[in-house]
Amino acid sequence: MESVKPVNEILSVMNAKDEQGQTLVRKAYEFSKKAHETQTRYSGEPYFLHTAETGYLIAEIGMDAQTVAAGLLHDTMEDAGVTAATMEQEFGPEVLSLVRGVTKLGALRYRGAERHTESLRKLFAATAEDIRVLIIKLMDRLHNAKTLAHVPEHKRERIALETLEIYAPIADRLGMSVIKTELEDAAFPFAYKKEYEKTLELLKERKNENEKRLEKLEKDAKRELAEAGIRTFRMEARVKGVYSLFRKLERKDWDITKIFDILALRMIVPTIADCYTVLGVVHKHWRPVPGKIKDYIAFPKPNGYQSIHTTVYTGDGSAIEIQIRTESQHREAQFGIASHLTYKEVLGYTDGQRGGGLEWIRQFIPIGRRKAAPISEEPTRHGNVPQWVKELAGAHVAADESEAYLDSIKSDFFSHRVFVFTPKADVIDLPLGATPIDFAYAIHSEIANRMSGAKVNGKMVSLDISLRNGDIVEIITKPSGKPTRKWYDIAKTTLAKKMIRAALAESRKKAS
Ligand code: MN
Repeated sequence: MESVKPVNEILSVMNAKDEQGQTLVRKAYEFSKKAHETQTRYSGEPYFLHTAETGYLIAEIGMDAQTVAAGLLHDTMEDAGVTAATMEQEFGPEVLSLVRGVTKLGALRYRGAERHTESLRKLFAATAEDIRVLIIKLMDRLHNAKTLAHVPEHKRERIALETLEIYAPIADRLGMSVIKTELEDAAFPFAYKKEYEKTLELLKERKNENEKRLEKLEKDAKRELAEAGIRTFRMEARVKGVYSLFRKLERKDWDITKIFDILALRMIVPTIADCYTVLGVVHKHWRPVPGKIKDYIAFPKPNGYQSIHTTVYTGDGSAIEIQIRTESQHREAQFGIASHLTYKEVLGYTDGQRGGGLEWIRQFIPIGRRKAAPISEEPTRHGNVPQWVKELAGAHVAADESEAYLDSIKSDFFSHRVFVFTPKADVIDLPLGATPIDFAYAIHSEIANRMSGAKVNGKMVSLDISLRNGDIVEIITKPSGKPTRKWYDIAKTTLAKKMIRAALAESRKKAS
């Protein structure tokens, strides 16, 4: 049996060491312990074990004292009958609003799938106010996923699938790759048992061979870097998550010899200039696999990820992936948005990065120089929030549309996205297959409702084309422009459809 995490362990991993914060966390710890006193988990262990663990996970990724306290208290309103008044009196309005945000809807008003969908929507609505709500929810889910073995079988698969389809992609979108991998690998065995076993089997067969190859590469690389005069660097091995390996195996006809990043070698250096120097040294000594060089420093991934990836032949007929990045890129690659809410100095770009790919994250950081989010209309209480979260919160869901809403969350928002630009180089994040119409509504409904045409990369296009990553899209308007039924059919996003439907209804009203 797992033992309850002592409060001192939580305090010691916390970033904030101030007296006030530590006192708050101590108080929340004792309060939660008492509130859940009589409850047990499926495993028979005290319920408080779960809330203490959630608080610990939140502290570990460096969140502030309020968030850690709210993590410790996150189930006290829902499961232990603590009232809002008590919560506010004991811990103040900020902790209350965080705990409220993660509290599911009452089981009386909603049932089954509907309750579930509405609870998710409420979570996104609360997140639109304060991104920390989502981080608490992710850590709550992470502990639940890690303890799935104790959950009754009929519930297990649903929780596991939901973890893979909704929560892991959220962690990914927030750049929290460590959390994403942990969520996936915890849920995988319970979602797809056979595939999990098959993947694990393949992985085991290759393990020794791979490790030996990596060890040799690391040793040689250290020597080469030192000879090239690079003194400050560190290396670490990165093991691919089992679920992520499974996904890749599916794409490669289950041929594990075609996958070169099961083990990768990370080289972490002080500056961006060092990254390119190291790349030069690596390519001079090992022949790179053509087409496998990816410069995510010059072209960051949409979630802000920055690194140089290259795959090199190791001289024994095989190849290994090497990832080159700075310390701050490394920290960010692991904890994404959490690292921004924590390490405020990253905003100063101490290693001289241009920060291009970070713009979307910067939009909802409550500190520092903040660029106005292109679409945010209402001010939020704690920093700004990405558009996709707002869309999830605002989507209208009728009772009989619960299933469709869940599907749209899965497909629309997380699996396949394209990132396109306004002429002013603001990034707009859209689902795959999105058209200029979706783009226009993502910018502003006023503009979209007057649209007469669109240019992509300087050329006029028809409104039903699918936008591609990196496209620069310009919307042409004229005073007499107005939405049509055809637009409704062309549009892919929930937001655009909703706005077009509203505009059509409005003009029908005017006409009658
Ligand atoms: Mn919980």
